[in-house]
Amino acid sequence: MSLPIFQSSTFEYAGEAGYHDVRYLRLSNSPNHEALHAKLAALEGGEAALVTASGMAAISASLIAFLPAGSHVIAHRSLYGGTRTFLTQELPRMGAEVTFVDADDPFAWKPALRPATRAIYVEAMTNPLLEVVDLEAAAAFARAHDLVSMIDATLATPVNYRPIEAGFDLVLHSATKYLNGHTDIVAGAVIGRAAHVERIKHLLDHLGGSLDPHACFLLHRGLKTLALRLRRQNESAFALASALERHPAVAKVNYAGLESHPRHARARRYFAGTGGLLSFEPRGGPAAAEALMKRLELAVVAPSLGGPETLVTRPVTTSHRGLTPEERRELGISDALVRVSVGLEAAEDLIADFAKAL
Ligand SMILES: *Cc1c(COP(=O)(O)O)cnc(C)c1O
Repeated sequence: MSLPIFQSSTFEYAGEAGYHDVRYLRLSNSPNHEALHAKLAALEGGEAALVTASGMAAISASLIAFLPAGSHVIAHRSLYGGTRTFLTQELPRMGAEVTFVDADDPFAWKPALRPATRAIYVEAMTNPLLEVVDLEAAAAFARAHDLVSMIDATLATPVNYRPIEAGFDLVLHSATKYLNGHTDIVAGAVIGRAAHVERIKHLLDHLGGSLDPHACFLLHRGLKTLALRLRRQNESAFALASALERHPAVAKVNYAGLESHPRHARARRYFAGTGGLLSFEPRGGPAAAEALMKRLELAVVAPSLGGPETLVTRPVTTSHRGLTPEERRELGISDALVRVSVGLEAAEDLIADFAKAL
């Protein structure tokens, strides 16, 4: 009932015809990889899947695979920091260009379109503001203009959102987060049509970003509790967001499950649940945010998200430190913003911890 770890770099030759089919760990075709690929494809409703050494390996390999020199990609302006930096600093060195747009405004897409445009890139929910952009319009725009649509669905997970059913071509995950869910590995995944995934796999075979079999084993095990964990995290995050919103020492809460969220109705339409991540601004600015974080006892001050432990960070000091103050202001990320990844603790205990700290 538990998949063994096939800790072998190579396998006995069995007549495979080509380089990419020989069984070798870098080629992502051990029994551990094959089991995970089948499971992830089934979870997302895709034809094929590929696991990678990290979320960034999945994202960078997918972008490189579909963006040759001379090509162009349209992306939402607010993205995971590593992805944004990859698009602005690494991709241009390979001869491809990016235009950032406000994906919440479908009229902004068309002026950005060029003959060389090959792909569009969005996130299911953004970090740390939990924006829900017009994903339907993005998928439809890609179909209308023959572009590959890519969505980073790390924050949503297949429990809360089904990008392939919504019309996206490629679903990307940092499996480090909710898919594994135990804060003990770094991993990534790509799910989509077989031909698309095959193209990315061939590139990854050369880049060398395959996932280790032991990490495959842990991810395979983590996936078994994905639905249970996410349902609990959906509920606890909503309970904590509601309590924070009522608290007099809190100025603003960002969580798509709250009626005050500007895209609440859209989020209800897209998502089965609004996830385990939220952010808020305490009254009193950055000093109040720092003091609050020091006083928390149950929640831990640490980067990353999606695990059993509740983690808090100030994006200005961690994930969004690389942006200029103007860029952060443009995106709406204030210096006092506190991001919370809600874990699996009892919601009452978490609410009490934050109430005491506030
Ligand atoms: C963490 C994260 C990534 C990067 O994943 P790694 O596994 O750290 O490489 C990409 N996108 C989102 C939304 C993330 O949260």
